[in-house]
Amino acid sequence: MARIVMKFGGTSMAGTERIRRVASIVRRQQAAGHEVAVVVSAMAGETDRLVNFCREANPLYDPAEYDVVVASGEQVTSGLLALTLQAMGCKARSWLGWQMPIHTVEAHAKARVTAIDSDALVASMQAGEIAVIPGFQGLSADNRITTLGRGGSDTSAVAVAAAIGADRCDIYTDVDGVYTTDPRIVSRARKLNHVTYEEMLELASVGAKVLQTRSVSLAMKENVRVQVLSSFIGDDAVPADELPGTMIVSDEEMEGLDMERQLVTGIALDKNEAKLILTRVPDRPGAVSTIFAPLADASINVDMIIQNVGRDKGETDVTFTVPLADLARAQALLEDKRDEIGFNRIITDSDVAKISVVGVGMKSHAGVAATMFKALADRGINIQAISTSEIKVSVLIEEAETELAVRVLHTAYGLDAEDEAA
Ligand code: ADP
Ligand code: ASP
Ligand code: MG
Repeated sequence: MARIVMKFGGTSMAGTERIRRVASIVRRQQAAGHEVAVVVSAMAGETDRLVNFCREANPLYDPAEYDVVVASGEQVTSGLLALTLQAMGCKARSWLGWQMPIHTVEAHAKARVTAIDSDALVASMQAGEIAVIPGFQGLSADNRITTLGRGGSDTSAVAVAAAIGADRCDIYTDVDGVYTTDPRIVSRARKLNHVTYEEMLELASVGAKVLQTRSVSLAMKENVRVQVLSSFIGDDAVPADELPGTMIVSDEEMEGLDMERQLVTGIALDKNEAKLILTRVPDRPGAVSTIFAPLADASINVDMIIQNVGRDKGETDVTFTVPLADLARAQALLEDKRDEIGFNRIITDSDVAKISVVGVGMKSHAGVAATMFKALADRGINIQAISTSEIKVSVLIEEAETELAVRVLHTAYGLDAEDEAA
């Protein structure tokens, strides 16, 4: 017998029929002799709908009230799954975020889990009851509902798994694992049987939204065994215990598994960045700090930064990227500081995409970036900015070229699935 957390995303929970399928997957897991806790997302599209209501009600919405609204989608699906399980003859009940509770910090709309009171939950699971937990939501110290940021149900699942000492956290979604790149964009993408925490963390943080970034760092820190697998399966599918999906593993585990590791594990894309260029900034110490300090104060994350070679008259252009959602705010903030910073004008471009190649093999091998630049150059794709980390190279390109760039790089690094490779 094992203790398993099963998480089902929005597409898996989209409507009565889908929920019935989820219930039968859950029932099957319990019938295999396991204690089961289930974490659910809102139905696909529901959270977007709720966010829009908030915007319509008050464009400058109070994040605490936003959380009250957007957390409701998960309340509906958790109740519906408990009802469906009961209709199938299983013992099941829902545990809302405030009922356990799942304690979080107060940062509304992007709260972090601090602790979970799981004693009652575990007792009920031990008594054979299936625990159904709405993902995404928690409770702040001042007793208000919080949410964990978009895609946060993954993090809820990993946090619950850590709190109850689960043997495994299975993340069921609409693809059957983590692929070398988004399989909806590149049909030749290949499913990975294993990926390391470090690589998954990097892939998620540069746009592979199959797992929320925070869920991966939490799993890594708490040593939670995570599997990504499909909920679009029949009763005859390979059981989850036989690990049909993608397992997230430690570096050491990976070394024992795969001697012939690829240099590049995966490619991610992110269309949610925007580029700003500040022209004719004074080329002197402290100038860059006057640009980025106000952005940091406003919690706007700057990602890629380039300071161009200085012009003749002691001036330079500074190019950087911010999340698309923060572009207008960043631009307004900088316009306000125009005299202090001393730039000439701001040029913005939201039609950009960031493409990143990730792989721990880069730590010990040179040439990954060179391959990337050549492959893109051969197809006439212009690189607007570059950033690197120990296991990642990212480039910023024109958004219209995203799919082509990802496909070209997927082939260049030898990642194409064999049966489909040309
Ligand atoms: P859920 O609603 O189950 O949380 P998400 O939509 O958040 O599902 O995540 C699953 C989606 O992630 C897939 O449908 C796929 O399009 C996308 N995705 C992006 N990169 C990858 C990747 N490398 N491997 C698998 N899926 C990926
Ligand atoms: N329903 C939330 C969202 O759409 C959380 C999640 O699905 O993980 O962001
Ligand atoms: Mg998700």
